[in-house]
Amino acid sequence: MMQQEQEIAPIKDHFGRLLKDLRISVIDQCNFRCTYCMPKEIFGKDYAFLPENELLSFDEIVRLAETFAGLGVDKIRITGGEPLMRKNLDQLIKRLIDIPGIQDIALTTNAVFLPKQAKKLKEAGLQRVNVSLDAIEDEVFKQINGKGVITLPVLKGIEAAQAAGLQVKVNMVAKKGMNESQILPMARYFKGRDVILRYIEFMDVGNHNGWDLNNVISKQQIVDIINEEMPLEPAEENYYGEVASRFRYKDGGGEIGVISSVTDSFCGTCTRMRLSADGKLYTCLFASEGFEIKEKMRNGLTETQLVNELTALWGGRKDRYSDERAEGKHTNRKKIEMSYIGG
Ligand code: SAM
Repeated sequence: MMQQEQEIAPIKDHFGRLLKDLRISVIDQCNFRCTYCMPKEIFGKDYAFLPENELLSFDEIVRLAETFAGLGVDKIRITGGEPLMRKNLDQLIKRLIDIPGIQDIALTTNAVFLPKQAKKLKEAGLQRVNVSLDAIEDEVFKQINGKGVITLPVLKGIEAAQAAGLQVKVNMVAKKGMNESQILPMARYFKGRDVILRYIEFMDVGNHNGWDLNNVISKQQIVDIINEEMPLEPAEENYYGEVASRFRYKDGGGEIGVISSVTDSFCGTCTRMRLSADGKLYTCLFASEGFEIKEKMRNGLTETQLVNELTALWGGRKDRYSDERAEGKHTNRKKIEMSYIGG
């Protein structure tokens, strides 16, 4: 454990972006096989997921999080794969929330295991969950998740999270030919249920989802579809670097958000570092290569050396992939998978 009164020494990258968020993937496995993320044709029963000893241990994750907190990180998001498949996750959350400087911990999940775990997670100090749900109609959802699962287990997970006192946001990836029919039904369903629904433009992460700009439903199109039935007005940013553009229902029925990394990229305010389940660091969701830190730690890296490695990694950061895509400089390089790094 670091000293309570540790000094925070914020660091900036090549473009002056501060390091504020750490996204931690705790496992590469998932109980779903969403067609655009972990298609079953590739992630089949013979797929070699990480063996247990390749996963960062809780001690290693906590050590990294403590060091990052000393460099200005105040927000942590736990993701995966499906993070609730990592054993004893509540114990990790309890340790992370105790780190001086960490103010906020959130979790991204498909919610299926929340009825069993929500209470424990809340007691451990978790504040918020982002639940991924791409359709409200069973037939559409069954197709997308690749496992034939209906929406009920997810809706029960959301209910359990709310009952436990967790704040819930629901994220829906909108993709042409997959679930455009669900944009309005999802808005209708979640309006007035104390859940913020956020639409995510389909992104060109990974190498297996057959991404094509023609499949992207833009922020403007999404807002237009909802606005026609349930009028919306723009709402102000909640905090610097918020990824979702917010829109309020004019009738006071809450709000929605749209995450538009394709049509309105936001690299300029990106304050995120990503840690994979096997201990590699990534400064961009669209990176090809990670920075190996687990082996270095296992080989006896001292605290000073660790601080120097992390500072140099963030300090040398020059990536701005989504901005470059918008400028037409998009490359066809190999990218990490979303299921591996977690979003
Ligand atoms: N299993 C957890 C879940 O379902 O939330 C966490 C991991 S999952 C990879 C995180 C999020 O990434 C999900 O909301 C998923 O929809 C989103 N995602 C995956 N591929 C995407 C893509 N190509 N574009 C936009 N979002 C994507």
